[in-house]
Amino acid sequence: MNNEEKLANKEQKHVERQKRIKAEVAERVAQATEERGVLVVITGNGKGKSTSGFGTVLRAIGHGQQAGIVQFIKGSKWECGEMNILKQFPVKHHVMGTGFTWETQSTETDKAAAKVAWQKSKEMLSDETLDIVLLDEMTYMVKYGYIELDEIIEALNNRPKMQHVLITGRACHRRLIELADTVSEVQPIKHAFKAGVKAQKGLDW
Ligand code: ATP
Ligand code: MG
Repeated sequence: MNNEEKLANKEQKHVERQKRIKAEVAERVAQATEERGVLVVITGNGKGKSTSGFGTVLRAIGHGQQAGIVQFIKGSKWECGEMNILKQFPVKHHVMGTGFTWETQSTETDKAAAKVAWQKSKEMLSDETLDIVLLDEMTYMVKYGYIELDEIIEALNNRPKMQHVLITGRACHRRLIELADTVSEVQPIKHAFKAGVKAQKGLDW
């Protein structure tokens, strides 16, 4: 086989492989016919969980859908850039009481704030008008034992059939991962903070 023939042979193999992949994808697309609300968990120690959650809410709003957001941990010093935009839309929104930050844990005020935020979440999870609900940093509420896991699972199971739910936060409980339809774990490979870069407005908050 001369060089030209080798090249033609390689090209033909590539075309055949692409055809095979296309057929396989088409087959999988044809098989995915169900339409229902999806429970998504974005967990792991890498950066990108909340931004993914807020980005998905924006995606839904862009299609004219209705969204609800509960932020379970309010950043201690930082406002959240996404909310400044999202507030311009008719989004149902609740931020956990001002006392609750990453720094304060296990105080009675925190527990009370968590209960209120969970109450708001439950209202959203039974609201037929909401197409999508973001429960940002909710995983910690389970970890600290502030909200009963069984109660969360019950509310998720009984939500409107077409409602999507996004849960973000590190160390997601195994049972929530089992219940979820889509789970992504964001792995930290590098983070600028470790190299001494301060959290940057517009990028980190
Ligand atoms: P983001 O809101 O940027 O999507 P996140 O939700 O994945 O981040 P959190 O654990 O909620 O991450 O932490 C929020 C803040 O901490 C953000 O400012 C983020 O940049 C920063 N952060 C996230 N992961 C890391 C990490 N591995 N090391 C240091 N800082 C991090
Ligand atoms: Mg986050």
